[in-house]
Amino acid sequence: MKSETRVAVIGGGVVGASVLYHLTKAGWKDVLLIERAELTSGSTWHAAGGMHTVNGDPNVAKLQQYTIELYKEIEQISGQSCGVHITGGLMLAGTRERLDWLKMAKARGRYLGMDLEIISVDEAAGLFPLMDKKYFKGAMYDPIEGHVDPYGVTHAYAKSAQLGGAEIVRHTRVTDLKARSDGSWDVITDHGNVHAEYVVNAAGLWAREVGRMVGIELPILAMEHQYLITGDIPELKGKKEQLHCIDFEGELYTRQERGGMLLGTYEKAGVPWSPTETPWDFGQDLLANDLDRIAPSLEVAFEHFPALGDAGIRKVVNGPFTFAPDGNPLVGPVKGLKNFWVACGVMAGFSQGGGVGLALSRWLIDGDPGADIWAMDVARYGDWATLAYTNAKVRENYSRRFSIRFPNEELQAARPLRTTPIYEKLQAANAVFGDYCGLEHSLWFAPTAQSAKDEFSFHRSNDFPHVAAECHAVKNSVGLLEISNYGKFEVKGPGAADWLSQVMANRVPTVGRIALTPMLNERGKLIGDFTMCRTAPDHFLLIGTYAAETYYLRWFERHLPSPGVSIRPCAMEYVGLSVAGPNARALLQELVRDDLSTAAFPFLSFKRMEIGMVPGYVGRVSFTGELGFEIWVTTDYQRALYDLLVGAGRKYDLRPFGGRALNCMRVEKSFGTWAREYRPIYGPFEAGLGRFVDLNKEKFIGRAAAMEEKRGGGALRLLTFKLETKDADALGDEPIWHEGKVVGWVTSGAFGHRVNHSLALGYVPAAIAGAGSGFEIEIIGERHHAQPLLEAAYDAKGLRMRT
Ligand SMILES: Cc1cc2nc3c(=O)[nH]c(=O)nc-3n(C[C@H](O)[C@H](O)[C@H](O)COP(=O)(O)OP(=O)(O)OC[C@H]3O[C@@H](n4cnc5c(N)ncnc54)[C@H](O)[C@@H]3O)c2cc1C
Repeated sequence: MKSETRVAVIGGGVVGASVLYHLTKAGWKDVLLIERAELTSGSTWHAAGGMHTVNGDPNVAKLQQYTIELYKEIEQISGQSCGVHITGGLMLAGTRERLDWLKMAKARGRYLGMDLEIISVDEAAGLFPLMDKKYFKGAMYDPIEGHVDPYGVTHAYAKSAQLGGAEIVRHTRVTDLKARSDGSWDVITDHGNVHAEYVVNAAGLWAREVGRMVGIELPILAMEHQYLITGDIPELKGKKEQLHCIDFEGELYTRQERGGMLLGTYEKAGVPWSPTETPWDFGQDLLANDLDRIAPSLEVAFEHFPALGDAGIRKVVNGPFTFAPDGNPLVGPVKGLKNFWVACGVMAGFSQGGGVGLALSRWLIDGDPGADIWAMDVARYGDWATLAYTNAKVRENYSRRFSIRFPNEELQAARPLRTTPIYEKLQAANAVFGDYCGLEHSLWFAPTAQSAKDEFSFHRSNDFPHVAAECHAVKNSVGLLEISNYGKFEVKGPGAADWLSQVMANRVPTVGRIALTPMLNERGKLIGDFTMCRTAPDHFLLIGTYAAETYYLRWFERHLPSPGVSIRPCAMEYVGLSVAGPNARALLQELVRDDLSTAAFPFLSFKRMEIGMVPGYVGRVSFTGELGFEIWVTTDYQRALYDLLVGAGRKYDLRPFGGRALNCMRVEKSFGTWAREYRPIYGPFEAGLGRFVDLNKEKFIGRAAAMEEKRGGGALRLLTFKLETKDADALGDEPIWHEGKVVGWVTSGAFGHRVNHSLALGYVPAAIAGAGSGFEIEIIGERHHAQPLLEAAYDAKGLRMRT
């Protein structure tokens, strides 16, 4: 083994091998893969090798497409067969809801160029004669599904990487990692040490243990997974290979394996494997079978596909593989550590391994993953994703692998975990809660405790009239919203203003003022949007998306240290309440001595005040479009503040409102939000944030690219559409059609209760953004007329929030 390398990749499973290959492909030849045993000695060797393009996140779906297309390339370079069988695949729907879900998946696939087709039960049975038609209502056909040989794929990546200059050492275990002061690493192994500029943890089943070597607890857990192979099935003899098939109701997948069928299941009672420590002596071993555990799924399988039941069981495989709490991979550089990267938690290595390798190699080499990979960025988890939290969420995710997740469905595992001091008070007001980064927050308020639950649906549901009433209360009088679930950062020091001016695209506000600002990367793309509040010359409170806290901190770290600046996250130190509506001022004025009139405290003001006996910061901002005030207090004061506002609010018919009403109102105002309208694939001018980019500043990150975007106009445009729908609204990711062609995608949708029609925000090519007509948006398989609006649907001039 060499003693120096640029990148040390730990782990020779399909993911590590793909990372290695992609690094060499991008021109980095001085790279080394260290494998404890033989290649594939973790999850990889016993995988069923199935692959497909469909994923709940369109950006991950794109990387899955890439992975499948890559197999030809690595076969050609390495001469090693990947054993690719493209059979095509069927997803079978046993219920109406599942068929709706498939129609939505098909629609999402449209703008990704995926060739998916909804077919009837008869057509499905024509393609897959083993099914019993009476259990199904329809199906989706995907021509690009199939399976590969896990050994072949891993070795094809590895050989291709070696031909590109990489070195691979086997039977060498990394036992420790020691950081040097320059950010490089001493990689300690049982066969000597190597000094590496970068380390990539692709240790699969042991990624958690390798993480612990550098003091981090990665949110991943391995689950046992079983599949069986049946005896020969006479019906298959002499026929062409059967399709891949997913039966959602049976929670199982099946494909042909020689003369029989392979049948795997994600059972409800899934069992974690090695929940706290992964044994180092586990190798190419299998776990003991437990057919009783999967018996309920097998019963369904044998009813739905009778020939499988008749064929007997030839072999059972039980092996572990890892999951993150949401089932997507963990990829990228780790906050707080220099030059330490991860590529782990990959539960579908044969659909995703190529995409993970591509994104990681680009990111490492160019400083940017080259695609929107937020859904698999390791930074989407914070400290709240503890070992026990991960255990609960992974088990839930595993058991729901083939379950429908309705748009209004909140998952229940690991809840309630984090609550704010007013949680019980909101509960007493019949709040229906959602989970956001482990934190409970109110979605809407029901009239009684008994009715405080969602009826899951793709259509408008039981919350609709109550959310409408909340929006009308905000429009006509005043509403109260808890806003604790924002990320907050305190930026301090004599250098704070200059530093913020470099990192943020907008002008830094003067003392007592607020500036809304995008944060751009060097390529001029949106990597954040913040409310920048200045309390003193050298003191700022930055408010942004909480889910992106670690993501933002990782970026801030890249631009620190800087003289005279300190920054710290303080999300849960400051909790908040907001009052919004035409009576918001009158209500709050009863509680504060400061003059809240527009003359004294205009829109975008920020000031320390006493609200009754409660000290806090009051900001005059509005995400609802109405006159609004946001109040931030330390946690110990939140209950008192709530009681004060509710007490003073009685005479104004103050009504609590939740996140769903807020979403409706911000869509009416065409206000975007992080991870929907604002993502690193859009520029600020495309996203309609141009007015918050101060090109008069001489220097800030992304300035040159932003200038260029302004000059050229950008390729995309964010539009607001008025929709003609009956009982379902857009949710996000629906295709936007123009004159019969799919041209864009929806980022958010909602019913606008104040304007009384359905609305959607979405991106289309700039060239047709001004077309004015000819647009349609597809919702649950039906195209609806979509009228682009020239301005926000509600109070476009913004007079209500400025009065
Ligand atoms: C029964 C079963 C069926 C499956 N079916 C499918 C399927 O149909 N389709 C699909 O896409 N996926 C499937 N999977 C999942 C798939 O196997 C994983 O997604 C994939 O193998 C993950 O690969 P990896 O490289 O991340 O991890 P691993 O395969 O676990 O590889 C990690 C490697 O790192 C090495 N290593 C760890 N620590 C060290 C160290 N300290 N020093 C040196 N080396 C180290 C290990 O020896 C190992 O070789 C299945 C898994 C199982 C168990």
